[in-house]
Amino acid sequence: MAEPPPKKRIVIIGGGIIGWTTAYYLTRHPQYNPSLHTIHLVEATGIASGASGKAGGLLALWAYPACLVPLSFRLYAALAAEHDGAQRWGYRGVGVGQIELLGRKVGEGGEKGVNSSVEARSAGASGGENADMDLGTVSLQKRSAESYARLRKAGLPDDLDWVAEECVRAYDSMGSPDDTAQVHPYQFTTSMAQLAEEKGLKVILGTVDEVLDADDRPEALHTVKYTDKEANERHSLPATDVIITAGPWTPTILPSAPIGSLRAHSVTIRPSHPVSAYCLFTSLSLPKNYKTGTKSRATTVTPEIYARPNNELYACGEGDHLVPLPKSTAEVQVDPSRCQDIVDYCASFSDEMRDGEVLVRQACYLPQVERGSGAPLIGLTGRKGVYLAAGHTCWGIQNAPATGKVVSEFVFDGKSVSAEVRSLDPRRVLR
Ligand SMILES: Cc1cc2nc3c(=O)[nH]c(=O)nc-3n(C[C@H](O)[C@H](O)[C@H](O)COP(=O)(O)OP(=O)(O)OC[C@H]3O[C@@H](n4cnc5c(N)ncnc54)[C@H](O)[C@@H]3O)c2cc1C
Repeated sequence: MAEPPPKKRIVIIGGGIIGWTTAYYLTRHPQYNPSLHTIHLVEATGIASGASGKAGGLLALWAYPACLVPLSFRLYAALAAEHDGAQRWGYRGVGVGQIELLGRKVGEGGEKGVNSSVEARSAGASGGENADMDLGTVSLQKRSAESYARLRKAGLPDDLDWVAEECVRAYDSMGSPDDTAQVHPYQFTTSMAQLAEEKGLKVILGTVDEVLDADDRPEALHTVKYTDKEANERHSLPATDVIITAGPWTPTILPSAPIGSLRAHSVTIRPSHPVSAYCLFTSLSLPKNYKTGTKSRATTVTPEIYARPNNELYACGEGDHLVPLPKSTAEVQVDPSRCQDIVDYCASFSDEMRDGEVLVRQACYLPQVERGSGAPLIGLTGRKGVYLAAGHTCWGIQNAPATGKVVSEFVFDGKSVSAEVRSLDPRRVLR
């Protein structure tokens, strides 16, 4: 008689997008049997409360690392087809472009919502030489044949309808809806959570304090020690397999992981009217005498702006190392002046954003691998049954489904089947 498969007790640490796609693919693995195996996910604060709920959500075939990207891109399409991702998490193809812009001086009038603080800060700036760039004088009329011709000369697609034409200097396409797409990261992550829970996964709100390795006995189990969020009590979970997906907090559980963190601010804006599906990597020259809220001396800034299907524009600015990673996602400090700078940059070249409503001002930390190639770390840690999937830098949304899929294979098949990920082996960089 064949041996019964060993009972697996799997514990995932961290409920960001990587933890939840791992949970999803574990519960869809052919060897997963909910009446035999258990899967717990322990999350310290709330589902997608870190970068996974506050990221842009761009997916691109030209992202990196090359061993994960094509698989992940295909899995997103398959997940969307299976679970109505268009409705559920805003999955759609998008145009992507690199755009060179000259921001308009934010001017008089004061009637517009989002740019009021720039008006105050720019009050001392000379209006004369930038008069043609004055925000107050820009019409919202549709483009004329002449202006379309001018914009085409700069390379701008005809249907990119939320950039003021006088601001455009150059446009280079980086992708079309065939090779670039997007999701709403918070909606996607919470949907993965729901789909995993439907197949028997149990979620625990609590902070993992340590993972104690099993002793040498073949039947011995690891012990995951955590502090329960509600009651603040310490508990233990026995585990055959432990998967650490704690993003930038990974070193608090696995101190040898060379993962750092970078804070980034972002905002969402409801535009004054619906806008076309584009994601823009901008290079925005600020008008003369422009004063940023953060007193930065930058003359060129590079916010990234993504139109989303729910009539929302998402914009994020440059990262900073000014405030070290706090203990949890609940303690992330949001600097209002950094958010206002992003809002003002957007207002300086888009009437639709200038006249829109700011919905959210937020910050989060992205996880960065500080040794080796900088690629994410996915696989065994060198401790039997302890896996790592973390350090996804700026492509964690794009690469989450492939990461979850290969981790589910490591756990149930003993190796990655769907992608060759030897270059991401954590043992290459763990001390
Ligand atoms: C501004 C910005 C824009 C971005 N845009 C994009 C984009 O367009 N496309 C793209 O592909 N990527 C993008 N990214 C990158 C992407 O957001 C990240 O790579 C990804 O979210 C990382 O996911 P994660 O699950 O590893 O980490 P996180 O989202 O940080 O999740 C880690 C989770 O672990 C929990 N945790 C931590 N410690 C413990 C513990 N001890 N016990 C229990 N739980 C714990 C935390 O509470 C958190 O919920 C962007 C990032 C930023 C900052």
